[in-house]
Amino acid sequence: MQAYANRLISRKKSIAFVPTMGFLHEGHLSLMREGRKRGDVLVVSIFVNPTQFGEGEDFDSYPKDLERDLELARKENVDVVFTPDKVSLYENGFQTYVNLEKLPKHLCGISRPIFFQGVATVVTKLFNIVKPSVAIFGQKDYQQLAVIKRMVRDLNFDIEIVGAPTVREPDGLAMSSRNNYLKPEERLAALSLFESLSKAQNLCAEGVLDSDRIINEVKKLIHSHKDSKIDYISICDPDTLEDIKTIESPVVMALAVKVGKTRLIDNMIINY
Ligand code: AMP
Repeated sequence: MQAYANRLISRKKSIAFVPTMGFLHEGHLSLMREGRKRGDVLVVSIFVNPTQFGEGEDFDSYPKDLERDLELARKENVDVVFTPDKVSLYENGFQTYVNLEKLPKHLCGISRPIFFQGVATVVTKLFNIVKPSVAIFGQKDYQQLAVIKRMVRDLNFDIEIVGAPTVREPDGLAMSSRNNYLKPEERLAALSLFESLSKAQNLCAEGVLDSDRIINEVKKLIHSHKDSKIDYISICDPDTLEDIKTIESPVVMALAVKVGKTRLIDNMIINY
């Protein structure tokens, strides 16, 4: 892949890059369409990265269907699907990781303490292998996008990072490969994440600006489904991700909820 990227660059071709863990859905495809517009050559990677999964998480059961993914990528005119294996990316003796000081201390980083180290490290490796001039990430993973943007600035990667809007099912559920785990009876409970974000937006529009009050309202909504367990609900600063007590400017509301065994996340910018 790196040799191929070098050849493209020597022929003055720009590379647009979409990293994924596969089991592609319309959200991933929207990133590909964005990438298609922004580079001469579009590279998509499919790699379920072991270093971002903690003990007891779903690394081994993460859904996979490479044939279907390749077909979908082909339809989006993707030029290269890069599918490294874990032994070639993390050979024996691997010991170098990329860590951010502050952003991972919030939201998902609290219950997934090694997650952002794994993400920052694998994205660094993929950037060095694929050599893109632009890379597209989804706003669905808001904290991940913030981490990547910060890392690219801090470490002077010569790569433009583009954030693409969250693609949702018609009823509002954010698309995710993990939605595949949901049992039919859990699907309704999963919708409560989007309902929570919409409710928060409405409350704010009605003049409720106290974050705790909004979060308490939303908790009731989520707990009305008996198999849902809140990991976190946060109303936070869009750049630092630090909690905001009173809404006085645009904020991000982000939440993670376990529906049965499936951990779902979602977020929305709430305009003041
Ligand atoms: P994943 O395969 O879940 O690691 O996601 C790969 C990329 O797709 C990440 O940049 C995600 O933020 C993005 N993505 C995942 N779900 C969505 C969605 N529903 N809408 C837009 N982008 C998404």
